[in-house]
Amino acid sequence: MCGHQSKNSKKLNLTYRKLEFKIVSFILYKEWKEMKFFDNNLKVPSGEIHIVKERCKGCGFCVTYCPTNVLEMSKEFNAKGYHFPIVKNIDNCILCGLCEMLCPEFAIWPTTTKEKEANKVLK
Ligand code: SF4
Ligand code: SF4
Repeated sequence: MCGHQSKNSKKLNLTYRKLEFKIVSFILYKEWKEMKFFDNNLKVPSGEIHIVKERCKGCGFCVTYCPTNVLEMSKEFNAKGYHFPIVKNIDNCILCGLCEMLCPEFAIWPTTTKEKEANKVLK
């Protein structure tokens, strides 16, 4: 009985967490839209998304909660048998870092072009 209850409360917690993430990504998206509305000259830094496909466990958080719909799940599988995300529209990326924050496997992160250049210098 107790086990059953804790299973239910875990499910409920997960639902709340998902709802929370959905709300946060919606707010980020709204803020981004509003910033664009008030300042048409606003420049979002360009960058790129790094994905280590072999670390991915296919949860889909990064794809679902990306506020600007940059990612999609690949039809391919990684070596562990999971679908992994791929970038479908890098121009939409606002480098918010939400995908990196949500990924439980540390398999995805954005970098700005500036960071990329700095890394090149360090190498
Ligand atoms: S940093 Fe990640 S979550 Fe944010 S817009 Fe880019 S791909 Fe989407
Ligand atoms: S959040 Fe991480 S583990 Fe989940 S699908 Fe995206 S890259 Fe894979």
